[in-house]
Amino acid sequence: MIAAVLALRDVRRRYSDGYALDVPSLDVFAGEILGVIGPNGSGKSTLLRILGLLERPDAGQVIVGGRAVDARDALAERRRMATVFQEPLLADASVADNAGLGLRFRGVPAAEAAPRVARWLERLGVAALAGRAARTLSGGEAQRVALARALVLEPEVLLLDEPFSGLDAPTRAALVTDLGAILRADRVTTVLVTHERGEAQALADRVAVLMDGRLRQLDDTARVFYAPVSEEVARFVGVETLVAGRVLGREAGVTAVEVGGRVLEVAAVAAAGARVRVGIRPEDVTLTVAEGARVASSARNALDGTVTRVSASTHATHVLVDVGFPLVAAVTARSVNELGLRPGARVRAVFKASAAHLIPA
Ligand code: ADP
Ligand code: MG
Repeated sequence: MIAAVLALRDVRRRYSDGYALDVPSLDVFAGEILGVIGPNGSGKSTLLRILGLLERPDAGQVIVGGRAVDARDALAERRRMATVFQEPLLADASVADNAGLGLRFRGVPAAEAAPRVARWLERLGVAALAGRAARTLSGGEAQRVALARALVLEPEVLLLDEPFSGLDAPTRAALVTDLGAILRADRVTTVLVTHERGEAQALADRVAVLMDGRLRQLDDTARVFYAPVSEEVARFVGVETLVAGRVLGREAGVTAVEVGGRVLEVAAVAAAGARVRVGIRPEDVTLTVAEGARVASSARNALDGTVTRVSASTHATHVLVDVGFPLVAAVTARSVNELGLRPGARVRAVFKASAAHLIPA
């Protein structure tokens, strides 16, 4: 068993009526990026402040390096970590001075600090801004400086609270990519809190789903997104098709599930007769208009149906198809035009047995 760098045991934190946070157990392992996702108000920031020893829980323990931290040694232990918030919180000084602030607090001599700061500004792509006044930076640049200021400390754990939330989409995407490369190259142990599930999907090795102050699922990232344990988690991680079904039986390595009068083949094991919810991510459903034609495909499920709704968003267009049950497919704007997708259009929806997963009903 690998020892956790940072852990919570039976932690509770109450603000008003209910518990804002109730976490029986959470471990952060060396070198991993742990994503914490959940809706606004679910307790993510509270969890991160408790992990960072910035706030004491009402009950339970915060364990750093295998040892429970008490109020007396919290200040010293806090130095093993570095935190970056949504707001970069830069002082009215130069970029280099800001990036070196933490080192100065820790008494690192200027001659030693300068090359370390220069190296981290370089790695975050803001070396050219070193002499600039921090107040003149754009949001993305300022957040890069705040990250340099944290990473230059070489913290045992890096704690990030919605560090990309204040940024526009292209700036955010570039920073997610650059930071991900750095964290993975250096194997920086990181806890990343975000309400944007895509950021966690892009960066995290494991993901904790927090809802109403409770951990609903803690799993490898792929499992949280492709095998959510409950309907609530499924909806939060972007599973848009969630329909009631009944397991018919198992044959040739797939499970047959009856849904809305159709029989789906699902690559999951479940007992015959079981009532389940079938979850399918929209990006896993392909739409074709070759109705009636026999198209050879390795995808096990091909269902003919009628488009009932087409809704465009910034990332993809989501098409709701009635195939005996409501099925959502994500397609590009180009496909909408080429396939003539509009309410009333007849289409065939195709997805693999492995794209469908089962949640106990
Ligand atoms: P998140 O970061 O997921 O949005 P928070 O941890 O900020 O959630 O908040 C969780 C709950 O605790 C919310 O209901 C919030 O209103 C409450 N809360 C957070 N901080 C405080 C505080 N300092 N005083 C009182 N209530 C708080
Ligand atoms: Mg928050």
